[in-house]
Amino acid sequence: MASKDREGKSPSSNGKRREKQNHQQPQPQTDSQPKPGCRDRKGYMVNRIVPVKNGDVVTVAKAMHRRQFGRRVKELFEPEREAAVKAIETGVYVGWRCPGYSWDCFRVGDASKCFCGHRLSDHAPYTGASAQVPCAIPSCGCKAFEFVPSRPEEVGEHWLRKRPGFDAESWRAACRCKHTHEEHAPGVGHACRRRGCRCAHFESSFLCVSCDKHWEEHQTFFDTEDSRKKSGLPYGEAYLPFAEVPTLRNAVLTGREEDE
Ligand SMILES: [Zn+2]
Ligand SMILES: [Zn+2]
Ligand SMILES: [Zn+2]
Ligand SMILES: [Zn+2]
Ligand SMILES: [Zn+2]
Repeated sequence: MASKDREGKSPSSNGKRREKQNHQQPQPQTDSQPKPGCRDRKGYMVNRIVPVKNGDVVTVAKAMHRRQFGRRVKELFEPEREAAVKAIETGVYVGWRCPGYSWDCFRVGDASKCFCGHRLSDHAPYTGASAQVPCAIPSCGCKAFEFVPSRPEEVGEHWLRKRPGFDAESWRAACRCKHTHEEHAPGVGHACRRRGCRCAHFESSFLCVSCDKHWEEHQTFFDTEDSRKKSGLPYGEAYLPFAEVPTLRNAVLTGREEDE
């Protein structure tokens, strides 16, 4: 199920062919098995740590004043910057990616949303060895944190914000059945709970902005610095957003492109 779109473009993409990471158990949902032959139809050029987001950001940059661009990049990547800084400090990395990848599609932080609708910080404490982190909100049946995008930019829908009356607070990632992740059952099966809807499994209506695959092909991984070293995943400073593109990295860190 390795996608072909990135093969051979970067030495760091070899990790995709590596065996499944052995320090992680798959999350317990039944329908998240990778669906073969999915969506590698577009040959995106970019690669490495944050593949397509790169391309997106550059497109946005071209349409934007330079100073504004720095501010916008910082805003877009602030949640991931916070997640990366905390991971580097604590040595516990939470990443959302497809099994076998050598990069994370999204750096997950305490403020990141779970499929159940609650934040990572609303779930039980986690370590780098965690496989399942249940939700601590009493009324919630979620048994294992599963990252889900919580801003339209995270599913590539930048334009939504420009719509009159668009409400970022109430925006939720949706399934092909048109109902949001919060309307689907957390955990095994992810069946839609909306009356009259026959959807039995959440299938994202969007593709990951980093790798162009569906939400359900991804998993949330809890790693340690050591396990990441062994798996060839970025850690330390290399985990910062755009570590490989200094001007973008600076924009993420400071809102400016220049080196200090
Ligand atoms: Zn919950
Ligand atoms: Zn949850
Ligand atoms: Zn559905
Ligand atoms: Zn539905
Ligand atoms: Zn992805």
